Parts: sequence; C-alpha cells; structure tokens
Amino acid sequence: MKNEEIIENYPKYMMNTYTRQPIAISHGKGVKVWDNDGNEYIDLFAGIAVNNLGHAHPNILKTLREQGEKVVHCSNIYYNENQLKLAKLLNELIPNTKVFFANSGAEANEGAIKLARKYTKKTEIISAKNSFHGRTLATVTATGQPKYSEPFKPLPSGFKHVTFGDIDELKNTVNDKTAAIILEVVQGEGGIITSDESYFKEVEKICKENKTLLILDEVQTGFGRCGKMFASELYNLKPDVTTVAKGIGGGFPMGAIIANEKVAEGFQPGDHGTTFGGTPLACAVAIASINTILDENLIENSENLGKYFKKELLKLKDKYCFIKDIRGYGLMIGVELDITCFNIVDKARKKGFLINCTAKNVIRLTPPLIVKKEEIDIFIKTIDEIFLEISDQSIEGD
Ligand SMILES: *Cc1c(COP(=O)(O)O)cnc(C)c1O
Repeated sequence: MKNEEIIENYPKYMMNTYTRQPIAISHGKGVKVWDNDGNEYIDLFAGIAVNNLGHAHPNILKTLREQGEKVVHCSNIYYNENQLKLAKLLNELIPNTKVFFANSGAEANEGAIKLARKYTKKTEIISAKNSFHGRTLATVTATGQPKYSEPFKPLPSGFKHVTFGDIDELKNTVNDKTAAIILEVVQGEGGIITSDESYFKEVEKICKENKTLLILDEVQTGFGRCGKMFASELYNLKPDVTTVAKGIGGGFPMGAIIANEKVAEGFQPGDHGTTFGGTPLACAVAIASINTILDENLIENSENLGKYFKKELLKLKDKYCFIKDIRGYGLMIGVELDITCFNIVDKARKKGFLINCTAKNVIRLTPPLIVKKEEIDIFIKTIDEIFLEISDQSIEGD
C-alpha cells in the first residue's frame, strides 16, 4: 500500500485519537526510516525517545529471534530466568532496589502511585504543573495539564499540583497526608523543562522530613537519553521510586517500577499484577538493549553528541531572533521558538528528517543514541535553511 491509501482508510477502522504526520512508516535501519512511498528519513525523534538503538539493531534482532523460538509469554504464575536477569541488571544500575515489571509508562506510574499509598498508608500525591505521567485515570490526574484530564471527570481524588521549581509552594502543599511527590527530572512532553539541582535537593529533604516518597518519572529520561543512565544522576538524586518505560526495551513495549528495598515491601502477594508485565521476550530484549547501551558506550555518545548538537543549535540562535532557548541534557534537546513549530516539523519531514513539536512551540529532538556527528551536521544545515525560509517569509509579511 502507498502512504495515501493507508492514511485515507484509517478513519474507517481506527479511533481518531492521534494527530499524525501524513506518512506511513514501512521499515528502518539504524537512524534511518522509510515510508510506504519509499521516501527516506533520518529519524531524530526515535518514536518518542524509545528507539535508543535506532531501528533493526542486530543485537535486538538476534534476541527477538532466539527468545521467540524459546518462549514469548508464560504469565507471572511461573518464574522465568530472564526476569531475574533483568531485575539483577536494574539492581546494578540503581543499587538496593527491587523491581516490578509493567508494560508502559502509564502503568509504571499507576503502580508507583498504588505502591506509595500502600507503603506510606497516606493518600495524597503531589505532582508538578506542566508534567506528563500517562493516560490512565490516575496518571492523567497526576499529569499537570488539565487539557488531558478535564473531559474524563470525575477523576480519582487525592492529587495536587504545584509549580515545577517553586520550593515554597511545595513546602506549603506537603502535609501529613502526602504519600508521594512525583516529578520528571526533565519535563519531556511539557517542553524539555528542568529545574536546578538545589530544587531537587530541597525536594528530597522535604520528602525525608515528611516521610513522603519521592517518585522520579524517568519514563522519557532514562537509559542514556540525558547523557547519564538515569537523569537522576545529573543531580545526584536518590529517589525512593524510579519509574521507567520508553527506552528500556529498544522499541519493545516494557515498563518498570524500581523501588528501594524497603518501599518495595509495600507490595505483598495479591496487591498488584499484570498479565503481560515482564514476559520472557520483553525481558530478553530489555537486557540486550541495556547491555548494548553499556557495551557500545552510548551514554557517552549521548552526552558528547548532545553537547555538540546544542552548541551547533546555539549558533543558529544567534542568527534567528525567533529562537528563544536551546536546552536539555544529552540527546533530549528542546529548541523553544516564539512561533509555533508544527510547520517546521512539516518542512523538516519534506526534507527528510523526523522531528517533533511539543508544547506548541518547542522542537523536541530525541534521536537514537547511536546517532553520529555527520547526521547532526546535515540536520543543522537543513534546519538552518528552514529557519531562513521562515524569517524571509516573516520579513515579506511585514
Ligand atoms: C511517555 C511518558 C509517560 C507515559 O508512558 P506510556 O508508555 O505512553 O504510557 C509517562 N511519563 C513520561 C515522563 C512520559 O514521557
């Protein structure tokens, strides 16, 4: 099928929940993907910070084949070696923790909220305005953007929102009912926004003083995305609970709640569960993905090329007055404009690059961690051309 036939037929059979780019992805290799009309793209979005190893990485393919021939799913009624191996690997990455395997970011956060209430025997959850934590009823309520939750009232109770980065507001909101504070280290969907180390350190202190859990939502920032294995390492944070998903499985759906040993005891048999969470296949692929990140020094690549990417983007900021800010860590970069960026995404796609626009005016760049300098260079050249076109148009329009 060609792009057009696929796109035309979607509304007949699919719920209309996504604003999609007008191409159908057919296949990929490394940082490149192709659509059904045969057009080639450099993928600087990686399926929302998921495809850390790019597309069709040999280690992922080998694991999919080998594990697929053994057993794909067996249910959590039985033990499985791959779960244990992945749990041990995660325990090495975040010491003194135990893990629960889920299937997605929303599920990981939903489970973390349940765990916090069960462990602390308290009820309230505080999250940040402009945050994003998922689409289940509890996580959409934790998400600090009313547009996502308003249509679905009544929402679960016990959720409060504070301004991200405002420590006094947080102090005034925490009380003896606060079970947990859940934060992204870098707000991804909200526009690649972070706070400083002193804010997060204060949050840790407030949590300790109030016997409140700190949950860091590393669904988007985890597994090398921000130039560290976890973004918590940027500020040397020790959360009680870390939730992960997106990048964990090199494209395979998987999520996890990683809680410190003591908090993990909050869940006892029957308290929480999932049919699919941590299948032998999902765990095998996650192990392969994480080991490849470590073996191929992709965290270093994320840090170094992230710095390079930002440096090159900053040169463009000097050239175009509508670029307001360049920010982010590692290969999670935001380019804030004072104009919307949807048409820039269109122009980039037509020139062979997949990028994303979030929060209306922030270009979100989250390439696979295997991206090379040359690919960044041709993108910079292309986006420079696009920015020039736009500034020419705005001058003509004056
Ligand atoms: C994407 C995302 C989620 C939701 O993950 P899903 O797998 O889509 O459920 C939660 N938190 C953050 C920070 C995310 O970026």
